[in-house]
Formats: sequence, structure tokens, C-alpha cells
Amino acid sequence: MTQFTPYWWQDQPQYRNTEAPPAKADCVVVGAGFTGLSAALTLAQAGRQVVVLDSEAIGFGASTRNGGMLGSGHKVSVADAKKHYGPDIAAQLHCEANASLAFTKSLILDHNIDCSLQACGRLRTAWTPQDFTAMASANTGLQNIEAFAARMVPPDEMAQHIDTELYFGGLLYESHASVQPRKLHDGLLQLALQAGVQVFGEQPVRAVKAKSDGFCISTKGDNIHSQQVLMATNGYTQSSVSMFLAKRILPVPSFIIVTQELGKEVVKALLPGGHCMVETRQRFCYYRPTPCGKRIMLGSRAALHAITPQQALPTLTTKLTEIFPSLKNTEISHCWTGFTGFSFSKLPNIGCHNGIYHAMGYCGNGVAMAPYLGHKAALKMLYPDQQHSVFEQTPLQSRIYHQGNPWYMPAVSTWYRTRDWWDNKQRAKALSKLRQKNE
Ligand SMILES: Cc1cc2nc3c(=O)[nH]c(=O)nc-3n(C[C@H](O)[C@H](O)[C@H](O)COP(=O)(O)OP(=O)(O)OC[C@H]3O[C@@H](n4cnc5c(N)ncnc54)[C@H](O)[C@@H]3O)c2cc1C
Repeated sequence: MTQFTPYWWQDQPQYRNTEAPPAKADCVVVGAGFTGLSAALTLAQAGRQVVVLDSEAIGFGASTRNGGMLGSGHKVSVADAKKHYGPDIAAQLHCEANASLAFTKSLILDHNIDCSLQACGRLRTAWTPQDFTAMASANTGLQNIEAFAARMVPPDEMAQHIDTELYFGGLLYESHASVQPRKLHDGLLQLALQAGVQVFGEQPVRAVKAKSDGFCISTKGDNIHSQQVLMATNGYTQSSVSMFLAKRILPVPSFIIVTQELGKEVVKALLPGGHCMVETRQRFCYYRPTPCGKRIMLGSRAALHAITPQQALPTLTTKLTEIFPSLKNTEISHCWTGFTGFSFSKLPNIGCHNGIYHAMGYCGNGVAMAPYLGHKAALKMLYPDQQHSVFEQTPLQSRIYHQGNPWYMPAVSTWYRTRDWWDNKQRAKALSKLRQKNE
């Protein structure tokens, strides 16, 4: 029987704080995911009295629901970044993407966070021959800015990494890694608690109002008075609390399945490289062995609007068997969903609007970036006159059609499904031409 809760949550402790939040704090952080906890840790280490509030049980958000793929990317190419922000910022965006991976790895290693960190690398797989060419040229561009451990994997080497005939080669990011995300979240939570941060779950923030001497934070209990506030709500941002952010952050769901135990030998035969895998196709799949090496986890966007995991399950199982036909009758043990937060610029941002700080917009790439930008947002709150990150220069944009409610996403889902259908037709044509040429 499939369970419709995250596989990562199984047998993990749930932190609860039954005390009432204090009436006063130096800093209130809204949202107890990677961003909020990392920011809280840095603020507490600098001597601030910090309160973190989450509307749900601690660890409810994307930080414990994700694929656990620890990487360095963001979704904007160097060419696009140069066009929109100029060459200097484009270069810094690449360097800080690399810095975010180094930061989060160090956070784990320096504090001995037990989160099944595996130096497995990530293989980005080309869905079409054109994708392979484009990846090679993008990689050269990035290496020219700042070298990092990545190399092209030609099509005839793919069998060493994966047992499927679907892809036209790939790009192997050798320094990328994987984690058990719920354990990483718990590790961060423990560090924050040890540093003196007070963390409260089931404490929805209902409003943040500016006062002459700080902010008044309305919760379900008494109000809290705080000097500073950080919104760390990403894909779970509510328009009732911040219309400014809700107009700028699009909640886009992602869906994940995990197979029943297949055994280490079967998983090793299907994924001999043991990497995290991410495709280049429009509605791409991402997948990896689970930390025990006995199961496969696969994620994808079954829809771009909120549907239930029960509704998403058939789409995900079809995708899994498309990649690995031998898994056709495999039972799926877990299926779940969570919200990523997309910005219209496709880049994350640290900012301050009407005195309220925020760090969000990871566009589905937050396992390394969210702890990093949480830390950077805290530095901004401590030293507002200094620049701490290039992501202060990627302001969140709004769109006239998005007033905080993504009513149009079902239509966008249909558009993407149509594009997938068209791309697959083109891919089939290219494949048959290739076969004819080889015969
Ligand atoms: C299914 C899925 C797969 C993913 N896979 C990957 C991956 O493999 N690699 C990768 O790099 N990234 C991945 N991501 C993205 C990554 O998980 C996120 O970018 C990251 O966790 C964001 O962290 P956060 O702390 O900003 O937000 P979250 O962890 O989402 O936390 C936000 C919190 O804010 C709380 N909140 C909202 N409103 C209020 C309020 N009014 N009062 C109090 N609390 C409030 C919510 O309850 C929530 O707990 C994935 C995301 C999903 C959903």
C-alpha cells in the first residue's frame, strides 16, 4: 500500500515546543525551513534573541519534502544573466552558486550533521542531441568564469552511469552530493536550539505590522514585539501575511515517489554511477538511490498546480517505467508533494521591503542555496549597510496577471503537457533518423 507522506519522515523525531512564545524578541523569523533556521542560527551566534515561528509542525515545508539533491545550480544561463544583469553580476551569480554548495557541505561536515551526506555527483542527462551540445557549451562558459568539477559524459559512456537508452549523454557535476533532507533539517534545528533560538511550531503568523519602535507580529496567542522580521516562507508564502511577496513568489508543486525495497544489487544495476540524476526535458524527472541504496526515489512535476499525491501517482509511475522498463510492476511505497517557490526572474533574492527582510525564490534548487541565503539574509539584518550577496541584486519581479493567486496554473500545466508531446514527437523523429544513419 502506498503511503502518501514523505519517505524521509519515516521513523524521524518530531520537535515540539509547548511553551508560549515570548512577548519580545530582537528578531522574529517566519518559517522554520532551511532558510529560517539557518538565518536564526547566524543571528543567535551574533548575540540576538531570536524566535522562529512556523504555522505547521516544525519541518512541514519543502525542506523535509525535497529530493535531497545537494547541488550548486540556478535556473538562469550565463547568456541570459549577462543580458539582464551585465557580465559582472552574471559571473558573481555563478560563483555564489558554487559558494552555496561549499557553504552547506561545510555546515554539515563542520557540525557533524548526521544526514546521510553522500558525495555521489549529479548527472544531468540530455533528452535530445541538441541538449547535449547546449550543455557542453554552457559548461565551457561557466568553467571560464570559475572552474568547478564537471565533465561531459558522451553517449557511449552512459551505460557506466545508468541502465537506460533514453538519453543522449550528459554532464556530470562531480562535487554535487545527496542528503536525507529531514535529517539535515533536524541537524540545523538542533544547532539553532543549542545557539539559544526559540522555535515554535503550529504558530501561524497572521500579520506583521510596522510600529515606531519595531514590528508587532500577530500570532494565535499574544502578539510579539520584535526589532526585526525575516520572512522565510518561500513556496508557502501567504498573501494574507505579505501581499508584496505573494505577488512575487509563485507556489509550484513538485511530486515524489519512492519504490519498495528493490535490493542493493537491482538499484546498482539500474544506477551503476549511484548519482543524482536530473533530465533536461521540459517536465523533467529527477531521481536517485535512497541513502540505504535499496530503493529509487523519483520526482517530477506531474502538474504545475496543486493536485493530490494520489492524483499524481500514475503520472510518476509511468515516468519511472519509461526510464526503467524493468520496474513496471514495482510497488510504490511513498508518494508526496510539496511547494517550491518560483520567482519571475528565476533567481532567488534577499531583500527588504518596508523594513521586513526576506530570502526566497529558490525555484526548486534550495537544498544548498536556502541554508546559504538564510545565513546571508541574517548578515544583511546584522550589517544592513554592507553587501553580502549578489542575490541582493536580483530583485523579485511581479506580473500583472499574478496577484498572489496562481489561478492560471492549470492552463500552464496543459501548455507544458502539449510541449512535452511535441518535443517527444520531434525526439522520435530525430531518433529514427539517427537509427537509419547508423544502419
Ligand atoms: C518535492 C520537492 C522536491 C525538491 N527537491 C529539491 C532537490 O532535490 N534539491 C534542491 O536543491 N531543492 C529541492 N527542492 C527545493 C527545496 O526543498 C526548497 O528550495 C527549500 O527547502 C526551501 O526552504 P525554505 O526554508 O525557504 O522553505 P520551506 O522549507 O518551504 O519552509 C517554509 C515554511 O514557512 C512556513 N510558513 C508559511 N507561512 C507562514 C506563516 N504565516 N506563519 C508561520 N509559518 C509560515 C511553512 O509552514 C513552511 O514550513 C524541492 C522542493 C520540493 C517541494
